[in-house]
Amino acid sequence: MPGNIDNQLRRPRSWLLVFGCLSMLLAGGSAVAALPLPEPAPSPGALPGPPPPPPGTPVPPAAVTTPPAASRTALPAATPIATPTATPPAVVTPTPPPEPAPEAQRTRLLANGRLQPEKVRVPRAASGRYAVVPGGAAPPSRRKGKVVRYVVEVERGLPFDPQEFADEVHRILNDPRGWGFRFKRVSRGPAKLRVSLSSPALTDRRCLPLRTQGTLSCWNGRQAVINAVRWNRGVPGYRGDVASYREYVVNHEVGHGLGHGHVPCPGPGRRAPVMLQQTKSLYGCRPNAWPFPKR
Ligand SMILES: [Zn+2]
Repeated sequence: MPGNIDNQLRRPRSWLLVFGCLSMLLAGGSAVAALPLPEPAPSPGALPGPPPPPPGTPVPPAAVTTPPAASRTALPAATPIATPTATPPAVVTPTPPPEPAPEAQRTRLLANGRLQPEKVRVPRAASGRYAVVPGGAAPPSRRKGKVVRYVVEVERGLPFDPQEFADEVHRILNDPRGWGFRFKRVSRGPAKLRVSLSSPALTDRRCLPLRTQGTLSCWNGRQAVINAVRWNRGVPGYRGDVASYREYVVNHEVGHGLGHGHVPCPGPGRRAPVMLQQTKSLYGCRPNAWPFPKR
């Protein structure tokens, strides 16, 4: 009798042992699955349950519920791990597509920490006739200084927006680091100077007898002739910082109109004076677009 009872008692015990071993194996399996979590390779072999969830809706829930039923100990470890592994990839996949595009654009357009204008194709020659940018722009009101009236014109047929060019010239001329006058853009009436965006061919004609060879800009008479090729590409010395080069070329050519002549680079590594011919070379100086850069 006692032996029978003992046998009866032992059977459940052995079942419990088998159950225990199974549950430990399962728990171990889930633990193994948990360890290589960051690596994508082990998860498919160790966790046949989690992978199914994304593809099919009805099958995965059943697969997820079966392992916990076999062992309660595995449940807490298996379920939280399974859900995070499944969700992050799903969240990550939709986000990448929008991110790379703007980043690539930024890296393409950034130079010297500045957003750069988009490059366009500038023809060797355009119409040869200027169009004055209509309207005007007031000088800064809260500043002292003589008002200088000026006109902006853009050669017809160039791939630049005349209004954008005029706005940029006005911003540059009235920058606190600029020549210190209050520049007022006009489209009629007397004007002290003109700022004229010109194709290389027209630049060469307007700059004679200076020889600009399709690459330089100039001051001639009462006109700052801005070569559209330079406006578009800048110069190598500015290392892709076309935005700063544009500031330089406007300040330099208008500087001539205000009576300033060329000056040399004061020494290697020094800041280039704005009246240095920086389009030709920096002569060992650092690029600088401003008459008074420290203002
Ligand atoms: Zn010059």
